[in-house]
Amino acid sequence: AKMRVGLLFGGCSGEHEVSIASAQAIARGLGLKSNADKYEVVPVYIRKDGVWVMDAQDVLTSGEPLATDDEPVLVTARIPSEANVDIWFPVLHGPNGEDGTIQGVFELMQMPYVGCGVLASAVGMDKLAMKSAFAQADLPQVKYMEVLRSQVYSNPCVFPKLCDDIEESLGYPCFVKPANLGSSVGIAKATDRQGLEAALDSAASYDRRIIVEAGVVAREVECAILGNDHPKASVIGEISFDADFYDYETKYTSGQAALAIPAPLPAEVVSAIQEQALKAFKAIDGAGLSRVDFFYLEATGEVIINEINTFPGFTATSMYPMLWEASGIAFDQLVDQLIKLGLERSTQFS
Ligand code: ADP
Ligand code: MG
Ligand code: MG
Repeated sequence: AKMRVGLLFGGCSGEHEVSIASAQAIARGLGLKSNADKYEVVPVYIRKDGVWVMDAQDVLTSGEPLATDDEPVLVTARIPSEANVDIWFPVLHGPNGEDGTIQGVFELMQMPYVGCGVLASAVGMDKLAMKSAFAQADLPQVKYMEVLRSQVYSNPCVFPKLCDDIEESLGYPCFVKPANLGSSVGIAKATDRQGLEAALDSAASYDRRIIVEAGVVAREVECAILGNDHPKASVIGEISFDADFYDYETKYTSGQAALAIPAPLPAEVVSAIQEQALKAFKAIDGAGLSRVDFFYLEATGEVIINEINTFPGFTATSMYPMLWEASGIAFDQLVDQLIKLGLERSTQFS
C-alpha cells in the first residue's frame, strides 16, 4: 500500500498564500517519478481563521484560499488522528506552523512528521532565542538589543531612555523586528530618531518581543541544510534586489529579486558559510531541513549569520529546493528524503 502523506498547509499566518504555493509544489513532487508509486497525498488545509479542512484537494488545485466564517470556530485538533496518515508534512510558514506549536500537536498524538521538532522550530522562530543559541555556538552576529512591548507602550519616561540607549549602543541605520515573524512582516529600517520611534511602535503591534539590530551593508547569501544527526550543507545561493532591504514586497513580487545559484564567492567563503550553517542547525537542534541566511561583507571577507528558517519557502522556484537541485538532489528526491528523515526521526529520536 502507498504511504499516506498528510500535507498540512495554509494556516493562520501572514504566509498563508506562500504556504499554498509550497504545498502545490510538494504535492507535485510527491506525484513525480518513483514517488508516484510510493506516496498518496492527503491534503489538509488550515483556513486563515484556523479552521481545519479535510480533503482539501480543490484548494491545492486552484491555489485559492477558502473564505472564512464570520463566526470564529475553534481549531479542530481531532483531525490529525482522523486523517489516518502515516506521516505529516507540515507545509506551514511562520507562527502556528514553523514555531513548534503544530509540531507539539504531532508529538502529543505520537505521529511522525517532516522537519524540525518542537525545540528547533520554537528557537528558530524567535529571533531573540535564536541569537542566544547562535552566540553560544560562537557564530558571528550583528550587535543587537532586546526590547519588550511594555517598554514601548510604557509611561512617557521609559520610552525616550530606551531610544537613547538604542542610539548609543547600535546607532543608525538599525533594523527593528518583531521577534516571532517571517517574510519581513513588521520589519523596518530606522535611519533617525523619528523612524526609530515609529518602527518600535509598529513592531510592538505585532509581537510582545522585539529585536533591534545594528544595520550592515552586505550581500545576502543562503545555505540549505538537509539531514538529522548528520546534516549536509548545499551550495550557496545569493539574493539580489533593487530595494532598500529584502522586504515583503520585494520577496513576493515576481521579478523584484534575483537568485544566483551558485553564488559567485571565493571557495574559502563558501566553506565558511557551509560550516556556519551546519553549526547553526546543530545549535537549535534542527532536524530534516532548514535554510540558513547570512550577510557577506565583501570588503572585509566577513560572514555574519542573520537567521535560520526551519520551514523555508518550498515552491518550485524557491531558494531551498533550488539549492538542492544545484547540489545534485532533484525536487522529487528531496521530498522523498525529507519523508525518510521524518520517519527516521520518529523512531530514533524518542
Ligand atoms: P525575516 O525572518 O522576516 O526574513 P530577516 O531578519 O531575515 O527577517 O530580515 C529581513 C531582511 O531585512 C533581510 O533579508 C535583510 O534584507 C534586511 N535586514 C535584516 N536585518 C538586517 C541588518 N541587521 N542589517 C542589514 N539588513 C538587514
Ligand atoms: Mg525568517
Ligand atoms: Mg529572512
